[in-house]
Amino acid sequence: MYKDIIEFIQNVYNTKEFIPLHEPRFIGNEKKYLNDCIESTFVSSVGKYVDTFELEFAKKVGAKYAVATVNGTAALHISLILADVKRDDEVITQPLTFIATCNAISYIGAKPIFVDVDLDTIGLSPKSLEEFLKANCEIIDSTCKNKTTGKTIKACVPMHTFGHACKIQEIQEICDEWHIALVEDAAESLGSYYNNKQTGTFGKLGAFSFNGNKIITSGGGGVIVTDDEKLAKKAKHLTTTAKIPHKWEYVHDEIGFNYRMPNLNAALLVAQLEQLDTFIKSKRDLALKYEELFSSVVDIDFVKEPSNSKSNYWLQAVIVKDVKNRDEFLDFTNKNGVMTRPIWKLMNELEMFKDCQCGGLKNSKYLEQRVVNISSSVVI
Ligand SMILES: *Cc1c(COP(=O)(O)O)cnc(C)c1O
Repeated sequence: MYKDIIEFIQNVYNTKEFIPLHEPRFIGNEKKYLNDCIESTFVSSVGKYVDTFELEFAKKVGAKYAVATVNGTAALHISLILADVKRDDEVITQPLTFIATCNAISYIGAKPIFVDVDLDTIGLSPKSLEEFLKANCEIIDSTCKNKTTGKTIKACVPMHTFGHACKIQEIQEICDEWHIALVEDAAESLGSYYNNKQTGTFGKLGAFSFNGNKIITSGGGGVIVTDDEKLAKKAKHLTTTAKIPHKWEYVHDEIGFNYRMPNLNAALLVAQLEQLDTFIKSKRDLALKYEELFSSVVDIDFVKEPSNSKSNYWLQAVIVKDVKNRDEFLDFTNKNGVMTRPIWKLMNELEMFKDCQCGGLKNSKYLEQRVVNISSSVVI
């Protein structure tokens, strides 16, 4: 019964060769800008493409400021530092995410707390978040104290899984009420909306990634967005070795990071950003086709964009309802040249995070066993 699915995907991509899960497309001004960048000799830490990218990106997502970084993990790391997360603090996130979310929290010496996701968004559930806070926390001197661990919950990092917006406005309201800083992991959701506002712009800070598998890529790269001028300046400072601008002196006023995006990568990225709308349109068209295809497959549900939102459909996903059939679906598709891949293992089950505090994780467990990503490249 999965044969029809293989045929359908081969038709979409017009090939009988191996079909990867997601490959980048370089069909715009990439070579032109890269050549220009090389000829300018400014391939490294300063250059006009970094500046252009930051301006264009901020405009595109509707944020006041954007600061380019070397990758998405670095963008998250700096965002959490700017949200005042310190060693031994706690940060709430979801167990279904890519490891980078938890790594960034851990680099500071802070600890993740895992709260359940919603079934319809695969992202952090505002209801579960509120339940966790009411059961475990109290506000003392305008900070959120965890009564169970005695520590301070400084930040919350929801993630917009595969480009589907989580209920970020509700989450924002809960975070405000509990004095918790909201930092969005929008690595996967560039161009997605919740209530007509773009993901990544609800939080105090938002982080995006331009890794090779993301909707647009700079090879490797990331960006921090914020509406707060002070935070934006601080982000630039911290990601560029905390050097005080001077014509010749090297004076650094704190321990900074070499987290800047090279101009060479920014040149590629400026060209990719020009194509974002076309890429999103292609992915949304593909989603409609998949929706129709899977409506006639009894055991498999296609993951559609949640209500009140508009998805970039970065990675297309299905839910194999009967757990027993998941591996058979993975096996059959991969054997027949169509790459598919299960969603991540739950973070709280990994060695490094297995002693972290968790809320009830019923939905996360259900989805972990059933969600599979299918061919998602932009169709050309
Ligand atoms: C891709 C990704 C990141 C950042 O990854 P980098 O490879 O460091 O750019 C962070 N969080 C999530 C959820 C991601 O998918």
